[in-house]
Amino acid sequence: MVFTYDTEMALSTAAALVNTGSQDPDPLADDAGLTRFLAQERFSGSRTHTPPELEAVLRLRAELTELWTAGEEDLVDGINRLLFTASALPQLVRHDGWDWHLHCTPPEAELADRMATEAAMALADVVRAGELARLRTCAAPDCSNAVVDLSRNRSRRYCDTGNCGNRQHVRAYRRRLASSAQVLGEQNK
Ligand SMILES: [Zn+2]
Ligand SMILES: [Zn+2]
Repeated sequence: MVFTYDTEMALSTAAALVNTGSQDPDPLADDAGLTRFLAQERFSGSRTHTPPELEAVLRLRAELTELWTAGEEDLVDGINRLLFTASALPQLVRHDGWDWHLHCTPPEAELADRMATEAAMALADVVRAGELARLRTCAAPDCSNAVVDLSRNRSRRYCDTGNCGNRQHVRAYRRRLASSAQVLGEQNK
């Protein structure tokens, strides 16, 4: 593990949130979509199921999307702004089978504030560890999804969504086939 478990979970959730923004249709188009996303990310706590709740999450998504590719100074400013805006107050908690981890907002705080502080604290860990290079965008030429590289040898290049890694492998395989076919063709001349 590169970071603590809760940090890695929060980074994955932040990347997943950012990447909903490039999907069509938008998985967060409505309240049901948000509920599905939160279940998939195992993100618990109180909900209002109101339009402002969804709008606040979409605002957070836009902010995190910008921060993902921001330089260190802008990222730090963004993290501090998120923590300040959500009135973050770190507390150790244990719930739903998760062992001790930090929450910065009470469970009854607004969803977007809770999501924001979790993402911000995890991003703060990345900055403190000097591991900003682990926040990337997908290496596939037609994809700009967020990628968080949590591999020990920093080898992760493609995003989770859309099978970019597979598509690149297929492309490379086809290129190899094509060039070996060319070689064979030349040999047979
Ligand atoms: Zn928790
Ligand atoms: Zn991708």
